[in-house]
Amino acid sequence: MTEPTPCLFCRIIAGEIPATLVYIDEEVVAFRDVNPQAPVHVLVVPREHVRSVADITPEQSPLWARLLHVAQKVAQDEGLDPDGWRLVSNVGPNAGQTVDHLHLHVLGGRSMSWPPG
Ligand code: AMP
Repeated sequence: MTEPTPCLFCRIIAGEIPATLVYIDEEVVAFRDVNPQAPVHVLVVPREHVRSVADITPEQSPLWARLLHVAQKVAQDEGLDPDGWRLVSNVGPNAGQTVDHLHLHVLGGRSMSWPPG
């Protein structure tokens, strides 16, 4: 019987796959996107495996708040204020989610168009 494929981001969090970490605590890890779409492109990821924003339960509200505060800190540390930055979380195939482990994209360092393609 084949083992289930280990989640890519779980493996990064476990230190099995290298990544450029910019923030780490007991609940949340943030690392640079390997294929950056802006001068600053950081992924904010909970250590707990949650598939996407669609799966966050009311009981996980503190974790969700924690993710937002880490995204805010990353943006500040990366010097994205006051020019602005974008926070994105793709859910499912139509939105282009490619890694099924909840993550927030912190994007900045250039102007961005709206709506996204
Ligand atoms: P999404 O398409 O919204 O699921 O975002 C997944 C993101 O993970 C993409 O922007 C990828 O470039 C990024 N990514 C994939 N593999 C790695 C990796 N090994 N290290 C850092 N970022 C990665």
